[in-house]
Amino acid sequence: MREGMRHRPGINMTAGSPVGQTLHAQGARNLRAAVAGLRGEVRFKASLKDFTSFRIGGPADALVIPADLEDLCRLMRQVHDAKVPLFVIGGTNLLVRDKGIRGVVVNLAKLNAIHDEPDHVVYAEGGVGMPTLMKHAISRSLSGLEWAAGIPGTVAGCVVMNAGTRLGEMKDALKAVRLVDPRGQVVDCPASAVRFTYRRALLPRGIVVGAWLQLKPGSREKIEGVVKEYLRRRRDTQPLALPSAGCVFKNPPQDAAGRLIEAAGLKGARVGDAQVSEKHANFMVNLGQARAADVIALIKKVGRAVEEQTGVTLELELKIVGQP
Ligand SMILES: Cc1cc2nc3c(=O)[nH]c(=O)nc-3n(C[C@H](O)[C@H](O)[C@H](O)COP(=O)(O)OP(=O)(O)OC[C@H]3O[C@@H](n4cnc5c(N)ncnc54)[C@H](O)[C@@H]3O)c2cc1C
Repeated sequence: MREGMRHRPGINMTAGSPVGQTLHAQGARNLRAAVAGLRGEVRFKASLKDFTSFRIGGPADALVIPADLEDLCRLMRQVHDAKVPLFVIGGTNLLVRDKGIRGVVVNLAKLNAIHDEPDHVVYAEGGVGMPTLMKHAISRSLSGLEWAAGIPGTVAGCVVMNAGTRLGEMKDALKAVRLVDPRGQVVDCPASAVRFTYRRALLPRGIVVGAWLQLKPGSREKIEGVVKEYLRRRRDTQPLALPSAGCVFKNPPQDAAGRLIEAAGLKGARVGDAQVSEKHANFMVNLGQARAADVIALIKKVGRAVEEQTGVTLELELKIVGQP
């Protein structure tokens, strides 16, 4: 979920004193109330490593995979009433800290339907993976998503991040967005009402549960050819065999973060098992047992070195979330 949408926890869950223990017990009751009666999957103390492309991250107090939209609306209402913090995870642009995420973490894996609508519009639920949506568009000979070849996030995550490449961005194809607001109401919002900037969409408060994409008819062979070529370029230039979260820093205007990091001599730099990729300097990879603390230390090291050597302050594209 977007940072701004997180509810503040209603209570301080500090343990260790009788008052702390009472508060802790109250926090546990609130958490149980937030997830009560759902039809989807609920896992307490679920490791978020398994939900991130970086394979890093501590536990969520409760991880919920709602069964469908109705189940998600119920969860939103209960989370709101119980005043429990809520976060949505697709998992491919995130560094989850080692202490994990307090409250409820939602994953939309079961909101995975795609519908064809008239006039070359496709509606995809928020949990659909971009590669799946891309395959669907190719099977219908629809053009307009080729720029996204190789972006591994969910449709919802790509809307929220205004994901993109040099060749295009989510905003270019987006016609409208469906959200569930914090009170559990479904709200549709035209793309014209959303402000998009570089890797960011300013949306109404809520969880994105679907998107209408305006595509156009094309030649299947041509679309497939373009996608294959972009995927080949990624394989040649990006460390796709190792866990990562894609580009760590945003590209500064008229420059590339990777070029600046490489020029600062940091390709291959390491903290623990976190490494600046040898293949693409704006990727950090997990060589096996990297902790979030290692990645954060490496981010600081790279940021400092680039600033000292070039005067450019790099801004994070990666989102660092969870309990400091
Ligand atoms: C190998 C690799 C290559 C990549 N290449 C690119 C690239 O070329 N271009 C690019 O832009 N990105 C790229 N990425 C990054 C990533 O795939 C995108 O940023 C993507 O948009 C993230 O989607 P996600 O579903 O994983 O969201 P997450 O990373 O889980 O979340 C991103 C943010 O969106 C919020 N969010 C997620 N789902 C919802 C929802 N349903 N409702 C409200 N908020 C939500 C989260 O809470 C978080 O704040 C790459 C990543 C990898 C691992």
